[in-house]
Amino acid sequence: MSIEIKIKKNMPLAPLTTFRIGGAAKYFIEVANKEDLVEAIEWAKKEKELIYYLGGGSNLLIADEGLPGLVIRFANREAVNLSPRFNCGAGASLAYVISLTRSAGLSGLEWGFGIPQATIGGCIRGNAGGFGMNTGDVVETVEAYNLKKGRWEIFSQKDCQLTYRSSIFKNDNDLIIWSATLKLNPAPAEEINKLVDANMQKRDISQPRLPNAGCAFKNLFLDDIRKANPQFAEFIDEQGVAKGGKVGAGYLIDLHGLKGKAVGGAKISLEHANFIVNTGHATAKDVLELIDFVKKEILIRFKVELEEEIVALR
Ligand SMILES: Cc1cc2nc3c(=O)[nH]c(=O)nc-3n(C[C@H](O)[C@H](O)[C@H](O)COP(=O)(O)OP(=O)(O)OC[C@H]3O[C@@H](n4cnc5c(N)ncnc54)[C@H](O)[C@@H]3O)c2cc1C
Repeated sequence: MSIEIKIKKNMPLAPLTTFRIGGAAKYFIEVANKEDLVEAIEWAKKEKELIYYLGGGSNLLIADEGLPGLVIRFANREAVNLSPRFNCGAGASLAYVISLTRSAGLSGLEWGFGIPQATIGGCIRGNAGGFGMNTGDVVETVEAYNLKKGRWEIFSQKDCQLTYRSSIFKNDNDLIIWSATLKLNPAPAEEINKLVDANMQKRDISQPRLPNAGCAFKNLFLDDIRKANPQFAEFIDEQGVAKGGKVGAGYLIDLHGLKGKAVGGAKISLEHANFIVNTGHATAKDVLELIDFVKKEILIRFKVELEEEIVALR
């Protein structure tokens, strides 16, 4: 079947994101095998269309006008158990992989229990994590397509340059994650279950129910705050709110009294100040205005710059 037949036109994207915001993709395709991925890319290049990638849409803000190009969604959702390794397609859902690794008595992904829709590809790109664990801790190798060079490449864990909420894939949009081998750690079932339950409880208490895209801003390194505003860093030290050398962006936003601040249908969650929620009719414009407002206020008050964790596509 030619690739054109698989490409849909004018595909609504909001339902494919957890934020439930944004317009349609000019062109859209789901790719389940490597041949389709390469053909779709070649098609977009030939037609001079921009290329966008969509995982589970749990970290995304799609422009109200939609995306003027080809959106590629990963439908390679398999996860093969080679205990203690798992070979996962980029489109495998994190929830599915956690359920499999948990049943296999393997530890390393418990932090992600309860996150809706996220995929392995998206989690590697942003080195997603929580509660002191990160996706990168369990990445052994990643297979990616290098769009610029037109070839497949294998990345070792070191090659992936996995740092706090970042990776080589985040810094180079020409690298498309296709699959990954994760290497997990055998652990007693009670330990895994205890960690899952504890993390789930923290999410239940602190995270909003309304549509959102996870944390709006990255947490801040205390060392960076110390450079920008030593007095404030001292205050943070006194409060004992830094964990692993980082301070929650939500702590600053809450301290400044911004919980509940709204622009149109976008609102700083009352449950967690680092979440922006869609109260029902939020537009991408509302969210971006709110993000801008928060960044300006935090810079003026604390002299530190917040950086977005949410990815805005336009
Ligand atoms: C309720 C909730 C809780 C959350 N909790 C956490 C948390 O605890 N920790 C955390 O880190 N995050 C959290 N998130 C954010 C989000 O789940 C993660 O960032 C996740 O890794 C995003 O994966 P995704 O598949 O949804 O990616 P998407 O949102 O679809 O995409 C994110 C970015 O990755 C790119 N991308 C996706 N797939 C690929 C690929 N195969 N190759 C190249 N680029 C790709 C996209 O183009 C986009 O730029 C939370 C989100 C929600 C809604």
